[in-house]
Amino acid sequence: MTVASPSKRPHTCHALGCDLKVPPKRLMCLKHWRMVPNQIQDQVWAYYRPGQEIDKRPTKDYLVAAGAAVQWVYEREQRESRRRNQTTPGTE
Ligand SMILES: [Zn+2]
Repeated sequence: MTVASPSKRPHTCHALGCDLKVPPKRLMCLKHWRMVPNQIQDQVWAYYRPGQEIDKRPTKDYLVAAGAAVQWVYEREQRESRRRNQTTPGTE
């Protein structure tokens, strides 16, 4: 793992496997953010502290809420890819 200068690195969507560039105050790209339930979205914004993306010191509560959002998107994508990969029964 190389240590790149963090300030130069573009901020990307926090959803796993997504590297879409998003503004630093946004946790995820719009597509993934829309998958997050309102309740978790509200928490992420409630704990968001203006300037945290600059000093890189988000609160613990924010990290918990953000982690819940990332986890939610991950699980939802797992479910959807499983559904996509399912073959029609009887076509073996
Ligand atoms: Zn994304």
